Amino acid sequence: MTVYNFAAGPATLPDPVIQHIQEELPSLQGSGMSILEISHRSQMFDDIINTAKQDIKDLMHVPDNYHILFFQGGGTGQFAAVPLNLATNHHKIALLDSGHWASRAGDEAANLGVDVDVLASTKEQHYTELPKMPHPISSADYDYLHITTNNTIEGTAYHTLPEHGDVTLVGDLSSNFMAEEYNVQDFGLIFGGVQKNLGPAGVTIVIVRDDLVKHVDHVPTILDYEKFVKKNSMFNTPPVFAIYATGLVLKWLKDQGGIAGIEAINRKKSSLLYDFLDNSELFNNNIKKSDRSLTNVPFKTPDPELDKQVIQAADEAGLKNLKGHRSVGGMRASLYNAMPLEGVAALVDFLSDFEKQH
Ligand SMILES: *Cc1c(COP(=O)(O)O)cnc(C)c1O
Repeated sequence: MTVYNFAAGPATLPDPVIQHIQEELPSLQGSGMSILEISHRSQMFDDIINTAKQDIKDLMHVPDNYHILFFQGGGTGQFAAVPLNLATNHHKIALLDSGHWASRAGDEAANLGVDVDVLASTKEQHYTELPKMPHPISSADYDYLHITTNNTIEGTAYHTLPEHGDVTLVGDLSSNFMAEEYNVQDFGLIFGGVQKNLGPAGVTIVIVRDDLVKHVDHVPTILDYEKFVKKNSMFNTPPVFAIYATGLVLKWLKDQGGIAGIEAINRKKSSLLYDFLDNSELFNNNIKKSDRSLTNVPFKTPDPELDKQVIQAADEAGLKNLKGHRSVGGMRASLYNAMPLEGVAALVDFLSDFEKQH
């Protein structure tokens, strides 16, 4: 039975990448040593990390005045690192509260003593649409504006960025990193863990504009952008395997036609599912159409007991991890880069059959 994994993260990886890892695991490039045991100071790893950086630069068209860094600690680690490194002038940031992860980022900044101005929130609408900028903002008031480009739990995404005047834009791209095109130059800083669209858990990519990287007192070195720039992300032992595996996914992405290529496929995948849901009399996605995510699609029947049956029967049919986040309930299909169109077609066939029987 073919298995399709719709998990929200860690998530499905491309089959050819898994095969490559398997074949190369005992002996990296004929060295007689595994990627799991080589030194991060070796020439082999130096090539791996620098190639991964170059591939990110190529894929996202990262301008020369940006640094590409690898951290540990996930998106959650960056919820602390970003305010510690960037909220140094006004000690005040703006935030659009588009969902769980945006709100968590705001809480962490506030926890570090930063003044967090929530400009708008769609919490009252259960985050079924994106908050809009209520008024123009200025860098005279804020160190940066934090947005979550894709709301993993709620299933919304900014396909066009909010107006932010001259305020530095910080984007949490964790769940649509290289799944749809953004212009890096629109942001001062982008971050995201790779475990959704780009690799296994363990590494977080940060892309930051050079003028934002400076010495700040009292930043823990493990979160210090200046130190990581100086040491090429090897201030301490980096997550060697995760960077290696991510490098393989980046090569695979290039073979898919880069981000433009994969975005076209992601649009096809999500449309197939949304079209089905919009025409279904049993299943429903209640997200405002223009704000719908390409990568995370929550949906429900009117009955939580029936939802349980859907998840169970889907699991038995090889369609795994469709349970929605506990805060939303129902089902959620995560359609990240490595989910093939056939996986979504199999899901739609399954749901359609289920609907006929119920
Ligand atoms: C998953 C996720 C996070 C948290 O990432 P971790 O790597 O688990 O810390 C943050 N933001 C968004 C949008 C996410 O989807």
